[in-house]
Amino acid sequence: MALMPNVYNPNMAAILNSELSIFRKFIHIPSYVKHPTGNIEAINFITSHLESIGFKIQIRGDELSEQPTIVAKYLGHKSNRKVVIYGHYDVALVKDSKNWVSDDPFTLEEVEGRVYGRGIADNKGPLLSRIQAITELIKSDKPVPQILWLIQGEEEIIEGERVAHKVFKNEIPSFGANLYIEETGFNDLVTNEQIAFLWSRSVPEKQLYKWHSLLNNSLNQPRIEFRHLNKLNGIEACPLLSNLPQNSIYIGFGPNDKLHNIHQDNESLAKSKLLQHKNQFKKFITLFAEATDVE
Ligand SMILES: [Zn+2]
Repeated sequence: MALMPNVYNPNMAAILNSELSIFRKFIHIPSYVKHPTGNIEAINFITSHLESIGFKIQIRGDELSEQPTIVAKYLGHKSNRKVVIYGHYDVALVKDSKNWVSDDPFTLEEVEGRVYGRGIADNKGPLLSRIQAITELIKSDKPVPQILWLIQGEEEIIEGERVAHKVFKNEIPSFGANLYIEETGFNDLVTNEQIAFLWSRSVPEKQLYKWHSLLNNSLNQPRIEFRHLNKLNGIEACPLLSNLPQNSIYIGFGPNDKLHNIHQDNESLAKSKLLQHKNQFKKFITLFAEATDVE
């Protein structure tokens, strides 16, 4: 059969638009520093989704910050494994709205296969894909590990004390997971490879081979690198990296690439990679929940 030329298919366009509509709603919430209502709206948006699928929610640090941390816990289903997932609902400030493809950076805009909007790459796109993935898993009756989902609201605040650090310091040891998943990951646009970060503070690279098959099977042969995601403000500014227990395993994968322009104007992601992330995350979490050799 000859390959079809790339004809416009109105049905396909409608499906993709409905897939993006939830992202459009989340991007539309202006959850940047000191916005009078944006942060609480973002918290409500996330917690109502997670509560509806059985997560127990606590908001921590709200007596000290307008941008407190969401602590969401899921008890697990047919699995006793434990995982900590990291994310954040706050977004960087817009520098100049004239530099965006859209008139409004808080309105998701699709141009030539990329979706543009403040926060789509850092971190609302990956975060929402994962909420969708976990929702589908829970509804499918497949095994789901115990989850501690730490979603902070101060990642884009550089100065002063941030309550997220205290919250992470308390919650991480008492939950007792071995696996920690970063907010996103990276793709190499030159080689077309997906990169997976696999790292530990104290376990040497050569002892992490058990995790390779899990990553290979869920991400379709990624390039696995022994490192963590680059943090603009350093490891100490990141409440996940700075609170990782000794011997724990850190993994990062996601839809970002070097065109994502995070913290700059015209932030974007490749739409195909954003939509693919949900399925990859689902696969990874399922394989982890069922695995017998990763501890
Ligand atoms: Zn971020």
